[in-house]
Amino acid sequence: MKTAIAIAAHPDDIELMMAGTLLLLKNAGYEIHYMNIAAGNCGSTKYSSEETKQIRLKEAKNAAQILGAHFHLPVCDDLEILYDVPILRKVAAVIREVKPNVVLTHSPEDYMEDHVNTCKLAVTAAFSRGMPNFRTDPELDADNYDCTIYHSLPHTLRDNFRRRIIPGAFVNTTAVHQQKLKALSAHISQQDWLDISQKMNSYLQTMADVSLKVGEMSKMFRYAEGWRRHLHVGFSYADDDPLKDLGEDYLINKAYEEKLDVV
Ligand SMILES: [Zn+2]
Repeated sequence: MKTAIAIAAHPDDIELMMAGTLLLLKNAGYEIHYMNIAAGNCGSTKYSSEETKQIRLKEAKNAAQILGAHFHLPVCDDLEILYDVPILRKVAAVIREVKPNVVLTHSPEDYMEDHVNTCKLAVTAAFSRGMPNFRTDPELDADNYDCTIYHSLPHTLRDNFRRRIIPGAFVNTTAVHQQKLKALSAHISQQDWLDISQKMNSYLQTMADVSLKVGEMSKMFRYAEGWRRHLHVGFSYADDDPLKDLGEDYLINKAYEEKLDVV
């Protein structure tokens, strides 16, 4: 069976930018997996770090269940997602356990460093999948197989220089939008926190607005997620593009490919 994993920084990041594609992959016959690298412990002004961690672990597990995804425990705290060896060994162990054909992760440019470092960790963890001399934590056997990485759009659809990030491909999430919304709404504690800290009126509305915006960019779909496929070197054959398994719900952005001389 083919497998796909979404690796994000914090509880709710998958639901905001990746869950529609994950759900469609499940419908296409993939076994799907869900991992937030950090515990979400800084996402509250009301509760202690430990209390917040417990609340958000429960919420994330509920969200994964709504998505029908296998849940993987976080491995560190918020703002402590560093591109360092102990965390890399843990993420690499999850990759060796799951053996994903598809890895969905953050954009290499994003508004906070936890997201950027998660992206680096996911890429290197996948890169090391067939290297027996790289030790994982826990120790698991290396295995070489084809794996394709896709980067989601950054949180604001822009890089840190305020420039729009243009996706290389779109996925039509219209059919699974309600389920994505339901999974996001499992993160109940985040409603208040995001209103206070980031002036999001409602995180549910934000997700819907972003999905509509990306849909508009696709000129084809109502709700969509956007992706940039990672260069294949070290991962698969040049033409491997497993999101094509989504059939008509997958649309390559020709404008991106032509403008940027994409191979
Ligand atoms: Zn995040």
